[in-house]
Amino acid sequence: MIASPLLRQIAGYINGQWTAADQPATTPVHNRATGEHLADVPVMGEAETLRAIAAAVAAMENTPSVADRRVWLTRIAEQLLAHKQELGRIITLEHGKPWKEGMGEVEYAAGFYRYAAEHLDILEAHTLPETIRGCRWTIHHRPAGVAGLITPWNFPLAMLAKKLSAALGAGCASVTKPATLTPLTAIAFWSLLDEIGLPPGMVNLVMGQSGPIGRTLCAHPAVRVISFTGSTEVGQKLMEQVAPYVKRLALELGGNAPFIVFADADLPAAADALIANKFRAGGQTCVCTNRVYVERPVLEQFVALTAARVRKLKVGNGLAPDTDIGPLINRAAFDKVAAHVRDALAQGATRVVGDDPSRPANDWGAFYPPTVLTGMTPAMLVCREETFGPVVAITSFVDETELARAANATASGLAAYVFARNEQRAARLITRLQFGHVGWNTGNGPTPAAPFGGMKFSGFGREGGTEGLLEFCETQTVAQR
Ligand code: NAP
Repeated sequence: MIASPLLRQIAGYINGQWTAADQPATTPVHNRATGEHLADVPVMGEAETLRAIAAAVAAMENTPSVADRRVWLTRIAEQLLAHKQELGRIITLEHGKPWKEGMGEVEYAAGFYRYAAEHLDILEAHTLPETIRGCRWTIHHRPAGVAGLITPWNFPLAMLAKKLSAALGAGCASVTKPATLTPLTAIAFWSLLDEIGLPPGMVNLVMGQSGPIGRTLCAHPAVRVISFTGSTEVGQKLMEQVAPYVKRLALELGGNAPFIVFADADLPAAADALIANKFRAGGQTCVCTNRVYVERPVLEQFVALTAARVRKLKVGNGLAPDTDIGPLINRAAFDKVAAHVRDALAQGATRVVGDDPSRPANDWGAFYPPTVLTGMTPAMLVCREETFGPVVAITSFVDETELARAANATASGLAAYVFARNEQRAARLITRLQFGHVGWNTGNGPTPAAPFGGMKFSGFGREGGTEGLLEFCETQTVAQR
């Protein structure tokens, strides 16, 4: 069992109290690298979610002042940074990513709370300079109502931070449901929230049956915003479920990012960026590169630079200081990656780095060797679907128009990367790319200060920046005579 000062209780949190589930069933959480049993978490459902919503409704009866919200957000950022090591360790244990990445995630999460604390002035009411139809016109940003926050396992702290910082900043009480695979990070984080001085009911945590919890959040009239990060399939289900209730929905869904290298690019820098971008969290990020397009004259050179770097990556237990890549989240993830590689090889791809690993016997220890494939074609799964694993699939291009068409030939529209020294050429391509985030000579993903989100099947709504705060606000215009 895990011993942590941040996990003295393994429970949900409703109305300012640690709360057990109504029934005794639990779900085990395992160390992703070793299989060690870490904890048993409660399985909650509709009844607990209804109580959490009721507590949130009561908390919103008095809208918290902007000054209070600023203090809370600042304290949360401070608490996160003060517990960076331990939170990072918990992330590593239940997710598998290297500890240095776990700690990086804590810093990243803290940035969202700090950013929100520093930008609440954008929510202040403003009055139009002109008198229209004899009236003074004032625009207010009101808290939209109770927020339902549903988060994935791949960034158990950061994906929540994007939502909760904005919800709290906007003055919305919330009910959070973390992923069943990684609930301990959320519980540990709530032990810090418990110390912040928030009103009871302002931040509630339920976990367990995703279907009933999701349906209850979607159907309850007091829940006015659902913010979800996860798979496109579940996002579509939530769209159906909220439709009868006409409520706000923000969907951060899957990606299938192209990484484009023009012949004039700084090739070693592009290869470094590819490695950092592709192998973060073992390739299990929504913004990580899925398809690499290299201009034909530099294909061999770029493949060699990439392969040399990938061969140096160390796979292992995330707690070991020299680990670059931990295990995949579970055996299903391993099977998906293995199937993508098998499919590519069967369709004529060449494996430049990597070999066939043995299938894990359990849901943990799903180590997959970092792999480089060349000869990717549009028919291959590695090109059509998000692989979500440590596989780089490369092809070449000749014509810029064909390239733009190939890059956009996916239902997803989350992130894309372009490497070129010729600015005009890169800028021209970027205007044609249907992706919400574009890295230009960088593999950098989102940052707290900038809006981030998808196009097409990658969802809608933005997180980060002032746009992220406004997702949790209703605009109210008052015409006063
Ligand atoms: P998932 O299976 O869709 O799960 C995400 C969350 O939704 C989990 O908390 C899950 O709970 C919950 N859920 C599952 N079924 C539900 C339902 N019927 N109603 C309500 N909630 C439900 O996705 P995942 O496998 O955790 O995450 C990986 C995906 O997220 C990838 O596609 C990745 O690209 C995407 N992602 C996108 C972004 C972005 O910003 N666009 C960021 C990170 C990840 P349980 O765990 O209990 O099933």
